[in-house]
Amino acid sequence: MIFNEFLENLESYEPGKPIELVAREYGIKPENIIKVASNENPFGSSPKALQAMRGCQPALYPDDSYFALKHALAVRFGCESANIIIGSGSDQVMEMAIKAVCNENRGILRAKTTFAMYDIYAKFAHAPVYKTQSEFHDLAQMAEIYTKNAANIGAVILCLPNNPLGECPDASEVYEFLELISQDTLVILDCAYMEFANFKDSKKHIKPAHVLSKFTNVLYSGTFSKAYGLGGMRVGYGLANTKLIEQISKLRPPFNITTPSLAAAIAALDDEDFVQKGIKNNFDEMPRYEAFASEFGLKFIPSYTNFIAIFTNEEKNSSILADNLLKKGIILRNLKSYGLNAVRITIGTKKQNDKVLEALRAEFA
Ligand SMILES: *Cc1c(COP(=O)(O)O)cnc(C)c1O
Repeated sequence: MIFNEFLENLESYEPGKPIELVAREYGIKPENIIKVASNENPFGSSPKALQAMRGCQPALYPDDSYFALKHALAVRFGCESANIIIGSGSDQVMEMAIKAVCNENRGILRAKTTFAMYDIYAKFAHAPVYKTQSEFHDLAQMAEIYTKNAANIGAVILCLPNNPLGECPDASEVYEFLELISQDTLVILDCAYMEFANFKDSKKHIKPAHVLSKFTNVLYSGTFSKAYGLGGMRVGYGLANTKLIEQISKLRPPFNITTPSLAAAIAALDDEDFVQKGIKNNFDEMPRYEAFASEFGLKFIPSYTNFIAIFTNEEKNSSILADNLLKKGIILRNLKSYGLNAVRITIGTKKQNDKVLEALRAEFA
């Protein structure tokens, strides 16, 4: 078989270890395993979403226009249904968008340490990757790199707030940055954790309606996988100018989300109480991890998301730490593959955090 050359140096995304796998490998009962590795909602899914799923007809294809979901999102964000594309996760929206504008001569520009999938989608499009030197989203530096290479950049991607570090520039800085980018270049604002950032500090809140009214080249992407508790249902969305949506939509496979996914997403949007309770718990609990890190002299990054990145020390590097916790049935994310001696921990329920913090303290005591 002759495979395409770009597959040779294309590494697969490494997801957080699933509970079932850890149960088998370590002989731990699944109910005693805590997964704080993939930024899922520790409270599960909205009961309304679960009920809607049970009531749907999986024998039937979903309404491929996603009329009801787009309508609900349009009401939520103050835009038109024609401004919306639905993806099998927001990942698929970004994949389609990058494929639409990038190629051998038009790469992506991203922050140095950010979501690993951007590079993988760039490779699907045979596109080069430009990145900043500074660890965090340094928009001035990004603008500089953009200006020097504008003809060779197809898409600029900002992760707001950023995964895996958790930082987030102010919305006003982002809007100023967008003014510096040619309307011929796509800008993707990956706002997978925006609900969390907005709760912690409204200065971080990117408003899709504002973005749409000013910029024809910006795609706001959002997801039901994090705050909305539907990671397993794979529903995400992109909001942009109608012309942009029309073009990207040509790359969308038919029926790209499932009938239960569609029903769940619509119902989840209607259960804001569930979402807000989860977000409140997140920021009530996060200071406990900050206190742990401070207690042991470990650096952490103030986070606007549902996870926290904690840098560890040489004695107990991130791989040892992640391994030791795994043996105790706690799955967290080692950030070694990002070149960092750090771990990323999803904030769980109070009970989960009690156990995770107890295990962490035992490692450093
Ligand atoms: C989780 C996540 C997504 C969303 O993924 P889905 O495909 O919608 O599940 C997108 N971007 C970042 C940075 C994420 O962490």
